[in-house]
Amino acid sequence: MLRLPAFRLHQPATLGEAAAILAGEGDAARVVAGGTDLWPNLKRRHQKAEQVVALHRIAELRGVHANDEIQLGAMETLTDLGRHPALRERWPALVRAIGWISSPLLRNMGTIGGNVCLDTRCTYYNQNEEWRQAISYCMKAEGKVCWVAPSSPRCWAVSSSDSAPMLVALGARVKLVSAAGEREIPVAELYRDDGMEYLTKRRDEIVTAIVLPKESDATHCRSAFFKLRRRGSIDFGVLSVAVALWMDGDVVRDARVVLGSIASFPSPADEVARALVGQRLTDETIRGAASKARSAVTPMDNTDLDPRWRGQVTPVYVERTLREAAAS
Ligand SMILES: Cc1cc2nc3c(=O)[nH]c(=O)nc-3n(C[C@H](O)[C@H](O)[C@H](O)COP(=O)(O)OP(=O)(O)OC[C@H]3O[C@@H](n4cnc5c(N)ncnc54)[C@H](O)[C@@H]3O)c2cc1C
Ligand code: SF4
Repeated sequence: MLRLPAFRLHQPATLGEAAAILAGEGDAARVVAGGTDLWPNLKRRHQKAEQVVALHRIAELRGVHANDEIQLGAMETLTDLGRHPALRERWPALVRAIGWISSPLLRNMGTIGGNVCLDTRCTYYNQNEEWRQAISYCMKAEGKVCWVAPSSPRCWAVSSSDSAPMLVALGARVKLVSAAGEREIPVAELYRDDGMEYLTKRRDEIVTAIVLPKESDATHCRSAFFKLRRRGSIDFGVLSVAVALWMDGDVVRDARVVLGSIASFPSPADEVARALVGQRLTDETIRGAASKARSAVTPMDNTDLDPRWRGQVTPVYVERTLREAAAS
């Protein structure tokens, strides 16, 4: 049985208290929300923490506030968000992405804040300690070499959050709070293309909420989400496609296509999006735009299924997702 390491658990009742603990403890502290990612990672010892700050008692992190914009409290569970009427009505593709995260039981515990901060994943990293010790570990935790690309100076672990590509495609923003104050940035700016330092936020910053665009944006937006995985449930994706198209009548005014589970960050497929802007959504324009998706990805041998095949099927799934968005 894998056991948790010893650590001190803090259960603050306010955001201010949590921020103060994180400011005081520095890199020795980690935040836990639902724990569906952090607890397994601590058990396998690829993440470490001397202090853990649990967020479940903090009322300020709960609730969905649906006004002109919808604000999702970071501690809202994925199950509750999937059932929320305003979210289902305005942003159905986000609800679909959330519904494809892990399994119903894990969605009962897992939160949206935890999902956007999900650690990157790799075949050589998401293993128990004995397994990793047998290969002398790897660069992301305790080792020196990247086994995916041994001559590479960086880690290529994959961003596997399912909500992240959809939130980036929709142009959502994230609120961050620390003892130093509050700031709000586009979700796209929360990520960097680095398997180890995959978040731009500081360790002492708490995600407090996700803010979705205005209702008027939702009216003109056609969107869709697709996730490719080995089994129909529980598996992490090996490719996901998030599409948001803003329409002027039947012409695409603006477009964002974002690919997930294929690189260390939710990767925009800008060439695909550019090929759609100013166009009507015909079979021909959709097929032409989707064909540009192959050059947007370089799948590597760091996750399930053959990387060459994942590259080859990327335009196919982009085309299907664009068609679904066009029909929405
Ligand atoms: C078997 C299995 C299958 C899974 N499949 C998927 C899948 O298909 N798709 C997917 O996206 N995920 C999947 N997950 C991962 C996980 O269940 C979800 O990503 C979940 O949403 C994580 O939320 P959490 O609240 O449990 O996060 P936690 O485990 O509590 O935290 C995750 C990380 O985020 C940080 N964190 C959490 N909340 C905050 C906050 N408010 N502010 C700052 N940092 C924070 C933590 O410090 C930690 O580093 C799977 C997990 C398991 C065990
Ligand atoms: S990509 Fe390389 S460094 Fe990163 S987790 Fe995998 S093997 Fe380790």
